[in-house]
Amino acid sequence: MSQEIVVIGGGLAGSEAAWQIAEQGLRVVLYEMRPQVSTPVHQTSYCAELVCSNSLGSNFPQKASGLLKEELRRLNSLLLRKADENRVPAGQALAVDREKFAQGVTEALMNHPNIRLIREEKKEIPDEITIVATGPLTSHALTEELKKHCGTYLYYYDAVAPIVTKESLNLSKLYFASRYGHGDDKAYLNAPFTKEEYEVFVHAIVGSERVPYAPHEDPKFFEACMPIEELVDRGIDTLRFGPMKPVGLPLPGTHRIPYGVIQLRQENIEGTLYNLVGFQTRMKWGEQERIFRTIPGFSEAEFIRFGVMHRNIFVNAPTLLEETLALKKKPKLFLAGQITGVEGYVEDVASGWLAGMNAVRRVKGESGLVFPRTTAIGSLMHHITHANPESFQPINANFSLFPPLDPPVKDKTLRQQQVVERARKAMEQLGSEMGCFKEERVMNV
Ligand SMILES: Cc1cc2nc3c(=O)[nH]c(=O)nc-3n(C[C@H](O)[C@H](O)[C@H](O)COP(=O)(O)OP(=O)(O)OC[C@H]3O[C@@H](n4cnc5c(N)ncnc54)[C@H](O)[C@@H]3O)c2cc1C
Repeated sequence: MSQEIVVIGGGLAGSEAAWQIAEQGLRVVLYEMRPQVSTPVHQTSYCAELVCSNSLGSNFPQKASGLLKEELRRLNSLLLRKADENRVPAGQALAVDREKFAQGVTEALMNHPNIRLIREEKKEIPDEITIVATGPLTSHALTEELKKHCGTYLYYYDAVAPIVTKESLNLSKLYFASRYGHGDDKAYLNAPFTKEEYEVFVHAIVGSERVPYAPHEDPKFFEACMPIEELVDRGIDTLRFGPMKPVGLPLPGTHRIPYGVIQLRQENIEGTLYNLVGFQTRMKWGEQERIFRTIPGFSEAEFIRFGVMHRNIFVNAPTLLEETLALKKKPKLFLAGQITGVEGYVEDVASGWLAGMNAVRRVKGESGLVFPRTTAIGSLMHHITHANPESFQPINANFSLFPPLDPPVKDKTLRQQQVVERARKAMEQLGSEMGCFKEERVMNV
């Protein structure tokens, strides 16, 4: 087959889409605008760069996010394979060395004989079968072009958490521990706060200078990625019940729980860098340095990246998209990634896998693939394409998106187990019908 499928955007979704197309034996041209043109948050020229946290969320199969990963492993996802290969300790979460992960994905794409990677900002959508996976920070020119097909955009704000070097921290004031002792004990460094230290810290954030919004902007946040200053504005204890939650983190050799804790997650395989978990912020950089240096052990902290904040765009998927991720009005055009209204790295990968596979099926004249609603991928895609368009918001994979069990099960743990079992059976059946799942890759919790 000589037709070349176009993928615009070599991020999480676009990289997975391009790989799946190529693995099906079709040729693909992947346009990535970096390093010629960058976005406000990307820092490298690698494909599949993780812009904020280095965690891909839970790896535990009884959680919706863990189940989604399990499904993607079965589907031979390139990005899940590279994530597993470049894992760093993070308890039950799958966290990666971001540099090695993105480098591994980029090399795999560049070495695939069916993929041409072109470093260019695409400003127009070609007439061939095309996947647009340009993410929440799509370049201005392409955003304008997309408006012709998708109308006006919805948006929300997302923020990046800071990263520090381990050698600059005073480790005598910090301790290693994973919450409730789950997973590797060396996965997290913890900075414990007394009540007095906590209150001083929170008051400093309340009074901090922040990057102002433009006059026409009306900030809307994604609840799971709220900047810390927005949290403290809701009350003095909000951080202690959010990112500074101390439960399950007793001080070493004691049962004593600190008043508040900041967790630092290992950022690279060498263990030389750590990020402040849940500490996304839009405070001015000077303020971040001043205030974060009051964290126990941080008086000499060296920041290799400060927190930043950005406006993310997404389309109104329920009105525009089929469950195959093709546009209802233009079946040759597919969208994938955050721009569809899925939220989160692994969700982006899943949508890239699906759009890639469906682009291939369109070239071959086959009907589009729709996952069963009882799977994590199917429940997510069904939600974004059937939600109420009036109140549509980006969403992570979660158990509330799955159809209820029949008969209903009251006990939450038992219910989730049964939902997981049902999803696994549905995937097995789909696999045997399609004959496309080459090997079963096991969970690696
Ligand atoms: C500030 C911020 C913080 C976030 N933090 C997290 C987090 O901690 N955890 C999480 O799970 N999710 C997070 N997200 C949400 C989301 O998971 C990521 O944005 C994710 O990278 C989106 O994947 P994607 O493939 O849709 O887009 P991206 O990974 O952003 O990929 C899009 C690619 O398209 C390229 N591109 C854009 N326009 C063009 C063009 N015209 N031509 C060619 N190439 C183009 C870009 O350079 C980029 O490489 C965050 C998002 C933002 C903006």
